[in-house]
Order: sequence, then structure tokens, then C-alpha cells
Amino acid sequence: MIVRRRWMAAATTAILISAALSHPGPAAARAAADATPITLTATETALVRVRLRDQAQLDRLVAAGVDLANRPRARDGRILADLVLTGAQLADLTAQGATATQIVQRAGDGSRHFAESVRAAQARTAAGLRAPGAGQRTTTAAAVDTLAVQQAYWWTTGGQTFLQAQVATTATDDPDVEITVSWRTADGATGSFPLYRFEDAGEYQYHYNLPQPVPSRPVQLTATSSLGGVSRVVTPALWPNATPPPLPAGYQKDFIDAYLTPVDIQARIKRLGRQYRDLVDVIDLPNKTQGYRRTAVAYLGDPAAAAVVVESVRFGDRGMNGVQVRTVDPGRRNRPLTVGYRDRVLTVSLATDTAGKTVSTTDEVAAAINARQPNRFRATVEDGSAGLPMPVAGPTRLDDGLQGTEVPAKPWTVQALRLGVHRDGSRVGVLAYSQEHAREWATPLVTLEFAERMLANARTDPATRELLEQVDIFVIPTVNPDGANYSFNDYNFQRKNLVNHCTGPARDPKNRNSWGVDVNRNYTVGSYFDGYVGASANCLSGTYAGTAELSEAESGNVIALAKAHPNIRFAMNVHSYGGYFMWPPGAYRADGRITLPRPSIDESTLFLNSARRIVGAIAQERGTVTWPSQTGPVADVLYSAAGNSADQLYYELGIFAWDFEVGNDRWNPTTGEWEGVGFQPPFDEAHGESQEYAGGLVELVRVARDHAAAEAATG
Ligand SMILES: [Zn+2]
Repeated sequence: MIVRRRWMAAATTAILISAALSHPGPAAARAAADATPITLTATETALVRVRLRDQAQLDRLVAAGVDLANRPRARDGRILADLVLTGAQLADLTAQGATATQIVQRAGDGSRHFAESVRAAQARTAAGLRAPGAGQRTTTAAAVDTLAVQQAYWWTTGGQTFLQAQVATTATDDPDVEITVSWRTADGATGSFPLYRFEDAGEYQYHYNLPQPVPSRPVQLTATSSLGGVSRVVTPALWPNATPPPLPAGYQKDFIDAYLTPVDIQARIKRLGRQYRDLVDVIDLPNKTQGYRRTAVAYLGDPAAAAVVVESVRFGDRGMNGVQVRTVDPGRRNRPLTVGYRDRVLTVSLATDTAGKTVSTTDEVAAAINARQPNRFRATVEDGSAGLPMPVAGPTRLDDGLQGTEVPAKPWTVQALRLGVHRDGSRVGVLAYSQEHAREWATPLVTLEFAERMLANARTDPATRELLEQVDIFVIPTVNPDGANYSFNDYNFQRKNLVNHCTGPARDPKNRNSWGVDVNRNYTVGSYFDGYVGASANCLSGTYAGTAELSEAESGNVIALAKAHPNIRFAMNVHSYGGYFMWPPGAYRADGRITLPRPSIDESTLFLNSARRIVGAIAQERGTVTWPSQTGPVADVLYSAAGNSADQLYYELGIFAWDFEVGNDRWNPTTGEWEGVGFQPPFDEAHGESQEYAGGLVELVRVARDHAAAEAATG
């Protein structure tokens, strides 16, 4: 494993999480018996799909700042959530009634993960199709509710037809109401499945199901409730029912051969700028990032007994890596505590009493370092060490702990590509940007594949040429290169940037994988600072909002580019994973779940109709269909994300701003389960995502062109 556990206690006890799969029914029982057990050592971190006991358990996790990778989904009456957890945390959850159903990905470097995921795939056991919906509760309640079928859609992918429904009951406050959907196909086959209640922020939203396999096109659907309510009969509609223009013969695509680090992306941008000089500008964005850099740090003493954390004020690469620190016994009576720095060694000479015994405490040592060497060092007392006698310790070396060797240790210039025949602001602008979140490795592959398709085909395909005549395209492949470098070299689940705003004990290096600001919670509209939900003031949280709105270089760059080019009217913020297609509002206030203002009816129609076109284009590549239940406003289909970029682009700058979560769940016909693909899937999957979502971005360019043409026609 490349990730060095230098800062962690070395516990290696394996914890066996048994009962990996625990669905009801005989087929599921076989699956449970045959399934590979899910194992994680106590200190190992992994992305795990967990079936939680109840909503209260999820709420406690969210309140504790858990790293939630995906929207929790109701399933089998319980909640499925993808969480980044240590083995110890998973064991705690399991003891509280949760069940791990899938290790999506383990912490470690990419190549190790590839090998594991291949083994995992080979080990997957055959278990037969899961029987749909178990027995329904008999109707005893007197009250009769009313059911409204809000959505009923079907589609076919990979030869399998799926059905998904969303139904609302008027009995919104009854948590026990059960809703069952019955369907009939054109050739007379029938069946049924249960829906699951979906609540968000404690409020009932609707009942829905994960897409269910059906034998062929369903023509009739009704819903019934345990309170006696019956919906009207509806005909499920085809989803998304939009097909992009066919690709012309000789259309060039597939420019992605491997995952790309920020250094690779920089080289790719440079090459595209050179190769397509007449169609490309390379734009240096105004805010340089901190760079792949950290301060140098060491424990002075034993963190398990008594220790002081000593940290350099400057970054480690600025001459501070390798500096040594020690405490010494002066060997004489009645000496005061002194601090000296010479020849790159910080020496703390401990105070002694009349008998010559050292008497300085950890607090006194930390205070003395801070008082005497404030320009070079910061010292804090290790948690649990306050007031303890300071031992004679060291010399020990300060180190920034960074593992990457190919990455320049200096501020980074984030770059954008500008593509088009007329790059003068006279054409409607489209902005595609990716990797706000460092660990989402597939996302720059999407935007770079998109950019190169537009450029490579411009000379040979008249339709592509026409798009570049009419549209001004901006692409930021990696918004957060510092975090991405850390994700590739140090800790693959890194989500945030590399700026450490923590103070005091939170700067303890054991927290090194939790520092940084969530770039997509640092924007100005509907922010944490405005009282919206889905971001945190805790510098160690996965959704830390920063010290203020736009406190970070990364978020400032996105807004600066959009503001500098007011012709930008459409934007796509590319994330992973889960297979979502979303638009504003992206946040609500906790109190009463009041969202940012809803778009007008006309704008909502534009968002939805355009989304159907783009979902259709994504499906064209390898049949991946983004579910209707995951297509809609962020606040409705995912969760509240206070201070996200799309909301600022839409509400402040008037840009139609969408979000992709690429990496749709894959249907496993053997187990009858939808399986998550994770942040760094085996490259074949990431490659597939890059191809299909690049096709979606090309369709977004067509949407922008059509919108501009319609506006011009109506004057
Ligand atoms: Zn993301």
C-alpha cells in the first residue's frame, strides 16, 4: 500500500463483518451463505455500501459529520448509504444493527484497487434473481388515503427492461403506510413490487423504488396503499425518450487511455492548445492555488504517553523538511526552561529542580517554543497530554508527509480551455468544469474527452464545425489540482483542497487526511454562512465550508471565469459518482426545509427537457440510463448542498447550471442488485463513463445552440 500510516497507531486486528448480504427470501439466504465476507481491518479505510438500521441511525451519522459519498436510498424498508469508514467505525455500526452489503473501494493507490476489484468481481457468487416485494400488511386502518402517481417510467438497457415509479400518499405523517405498485405488460404478464418511503430533513417527500426489472414494456401501472388508497391507472412513459442525432461516419472519439493526474492534464491542455491553435485559447485562471505543499511536523515525545506536536510555520519544501527537534536534560540543578535553534535543530532544554530532576510540563514546553520561535515553529500539546511531565525525547525530524515525487512543490496555475471559431464573446457560452472534488478521478476524463471530440472533429464533421461556429466553449478539467495530487499520491479518498484552516489540536497530524476545504461548499449563494444545510464549520468535516464564502482559490477561479465571460449561459459541474443529473435549487434551510427559490415554470421546463436530451445522449454510448428518480433539482433528488457552485452560477449570474454525477450504478442480474462503482473504478469503467458523459456534454452544446437560435428568432 502506498499510503504510509506514519501518523496512525499500527493496529492490524482483522474484524470480520459477517452476514454480508441479508435480504429476506430463500434466494437471498443462499446469497448470504455463499457471499464473500466483507472484511476490513480496524484502521483500514474503505468506501462501503451499508444498510442502516433506520433513519435515526443515518441522522446520527450525518450529525457526526460522516463522509457520505452518495444519497442514502430506501431499500427493503431500510436505508442504503455509501460511507467512507474505517473498519472500527464499520464494526461500531454493525453492532448497532447496520449491515455492510458492498465494499465499493478500499483506501490505497489506484493500481492496488484495480487488482482487488477484479478479484472481487471474480468472487461474486451466483444467487438467482431476488423475488420482488414480500407480503403486504393487511388493511386494518379506517382512514383511506389518496395516492397520486407522480412518475412512472420504463426503459430498456442491456436487453433488460426496467420500471420506476414515484407515488405520493396524502397520509404524509403515517410512517407505516405501505405502497405497492402493480404492473402489466403488453403481452399480459403481471407483477408487483413495494415502494419505499423517502424522507428528507424529517419531511415526507414521496414513495419510490429503485428501478425494477420487468419482462417487457409495461403498459399499465396502479398503486395501492395499506390504508386502502388506490391510484388511477396510468401508462408508464418511455424514459428519457430523446435520441441525439446519429454520429456521422468517421466521427472521432476515445481520446482517453488512462487516468490522468493534474500533471498529465496540464500536458494534455498544452498539447491541445498547440495542435488546434485556430480553435483554442488556453486561459490561466487568476488565483494560483496553494500547491501540493504542507507544513512539516513531528511528534516530540510519545503520542500514546506525553507529547507535543511541533510544526513548521513555512511549508516543508521551504527548507523545513528534515529540521530536527529534541528535548534535553541539562544535567544540572535549578535550570530554567530554554529554547534554542541552531544548525536546523530546535533544542528545548528542560527546567530542573533543586535535585536536578526535570520538571517542565508539556504545556510549558509548547508555550516556550511558541514564545521564543514564533516565526519558525508552532507547538501544541497532544490530545491527552495536557499538564503531563515532558519527557526527554528526540531528536526527531519534521516532515510534510507528502509522498508525491512528480508534483512540483509550488503554487499551481489552474487552466481552462476555450474552444470555438469565434472566441470573442459574440456566441453563447457553455462552461464545463470538473474535479472540484479531488477523489473523483473519472471527471476530468469526461471534460477532456469532450474537448478533444469537439476539436478533432471540427475539420472533418460539418455538424461539429457548425457547433464551434455558434458556441463558445470553456472547459476547466481540474478545478482542485492540489487535492487531486494528494488523492493520487497520498490518500485516495481525499475530497477537499489542501488548505489547512484548522487551529489548535485539530492540526494534529493524525487528522492529516481530514484537512482542507470542500470547494463545492465554498460558494456564496445558499451557503453555510447564510444558514443553509449540507456544509459544516468543522475544519475536519468532509463538507467544511471554509473560513468565508469564496475563501479558496479554487472556487474563486470558477466564478472569475464565469464573470469574465458574460456570454456563458449554460454550465455543467461534473462530479462522481452515482448517476445523477441535477439543477437548482441545490440547498435548503434546516428550519422548515425552505429551498432557494424554484426556477420559473418556463425555466423548469427548459431544465427538464434539456436534461432528457442529454440523458438520451449519455445512453447512446453504452446504454447507461440515468434514472428519472435521479434527474431533477439537487435538493429533491440528492441532498442539500449549501454553497455549491451551480447555485451561485444560476442565482447570481443567471446561468443555466447543471450537475452531473457520472458513474451510474450497474445492474447485476445475478444478484438482482444495483452496484455502486465508486470514485476510482477499474479503468475500463472510468473509460466508459468518460465516453458516455462526453456525449452528454456535446448534447449540452447543441442545447445551448438551439436556445440561442430560439432567442434570436423571437428577438
Ligand atoms: Zn463531488
